[in-house]
Amino acid sequence: MEKFQLFINNEWINPQTDKWFESLDPFSGDPWALIPRAGAEDVERAVVAADAAMQGPWGQMSPSDRGKLLFKLATLIEEHADELTEAESRDNGKLRSEVGGQIRYMAKYFYYYAGLADKIHGLVVPMDKPKVFNYVKYEPMGVVATITPWNSSLLLTAWKVAPALCAGNTIIAKPSEHTSVSMFHFAKLFEKAGFPAGVFNVVTGFGNEVGEPLVTHPKVPRIAFTGGDEGGRRVNVLAAAHFKRISLELGGKSPNIIFDDANLDRAANGVITGIFSAGGQTCMAGSRLLVQESIHDEFVEKLRSITANAKLGDPARPDVQVGPVATRPQYDKVMQYIQIARDEGARCLTGGNSPQGPEYGAGQFVEPTIFVDVNNQMRIAQEEVFGPVLAVIKFKDEEDAVRIGNDIRFGLAAGVWTQSLHRAMLMSERLRAGTVWINNYRSTSYTTPFGGYKDSGIGREGGVEAVKEYLETKSVWMSS
Ligand code: NAD
Repeated sequence: MEKFQLFINNEWINPQTDKWFESLDPFSGDPWALIPRAGAEDVERAVVAADAAMQGPWGQMSPSDRGKLLFKLATLIEEHADELTEAESRDNGKLRSEVGGQIRYMAKYFYYYAGLADKIHGLVVPMDKPKVFNYVKYEPMGVVATITPWNSSLLLTAWKVAPALCAGNTIIAKPSEHTSVSMFHFAKLFEKAGFPAGVFNVVTGFGNEVGEPLVTHPKVPRIAFTGGDEGGRRVNVLAAAHFKRISLELGGKSPNIIFDDANLDRAANGVITGIFSAGGQTCMAGSRLLVQESIHDEFVEKLRSITANAKLGDPARPDVQVGPVATRPQYDKVMQYIQIARDEGARCLTGGNSPQGPEYGAGQFVEPTIFVDVNNQMRIAQEEVFGPVLAVIKFKDEEDAVRIGNDIRFGLAAGVWTQSLHRAMLMSERLRAGTVWINNYRSTSYTTPFGGYKDSGIGREGGVEAVKEYLETKSVWMSS
């Protein structure tokens, strides 16, 4: 079993706590890596290194040289995609093919932000006084802490690290305690690309032991967090006490809305990938399906027939379509929600079981599950399950779809399937969500912002604007 070390100041070092913990393979249930259990003293070492890098060669580096390093990193991600994929898939149990696609896509974030590094322009501002002028310049904030969940560890880290480095900051990355291994492999690429010491550091461990010291450290002005709303709320409160800049990408319970004029075959495929990709363990999962009454029975039958044939098993096998749930507590939570839905009176159309047997390893699997006869007040409709469970709700017309779609505390994303331009425009105007997909679902890109309304978070990642999220604004007055 490989025993890892922390990556601080371009050195591999043991945690000062002298403690490690096991990372478990979700398919076999076996421990497969030993992860440093860092604490506040390790955070301190990482902050000193990251802060010194801001004052040192990284802080002095020209933006175009910064861009070259990011470009080099992107090429290394592509070259080492197999190694990164293997580590991440082994840790979170997602399909090898799915993680492989994410890693290759992750490289594109670095190419994109590499090209922006020398295009961060300021402003010259016209003044109403003679012999005075004012200019506005943008400066890096300093040390950025990235705190990420287990479902897409590297990709969600890239969403933060690529724009933050483009803007000239340094990074301390804190991956989820369940998926740390891929972050160590990623750190090796920073060394290889030639980044100066202290620009990218990795501290691993638990939220309360290493996450909180990072969030409250006075020399970490910017926190970029993705995770659940409980952790997000805690981080928000702690950071507020120090007036920190913060972004939070939190949970969702996104409506995927099917109108009677939609292309139903395409919509059915969109619904299936919308909820069952990564076994439903994605923030943007289309976990609330709203179907117009007139097509409800026909449409759910299409879903049932596709879902019932899904192949579950070892995520490393190319013919497998659904991997295990990433952790045992998450598996227990998903199974509890299935019971809650039954108790609430929802009808299980397909799935609902946990298959057992040698081909299911440690048995941490949940069949793709569809509940019909759901009303929007049920817990299965209101709470994030973060598993392969779809709640289907009927609606009458556009007004009804908007009302139900928005009747939720989250606002991450929404899907709409219709061939009517009028409906598409109306729904995209009225749905309160950070992303609206028309006749597609789950599309994301480095070129466009992603983030939530309401309890789904604060701030946006992706696109040109994401760089601004990692910059301070300075107004300079000049007079002779
Ligand atoms: P989590 O909140 O338990 O953990 C996320 C990270 O925060 C981990 O690294 C954890 O160690 C750390 N953490 C936890 N408590 C902390 C604290 N008090 N201080 C500092 N750090 C702390 O989330 P999870 O269970 O790993 O991930 C699942 C959640 O993530 C889901 O709710 C999902 O919706 C959300 N998510 C959101 C997005 C998005 O972009 N909106 C993307 C993926 C996942």
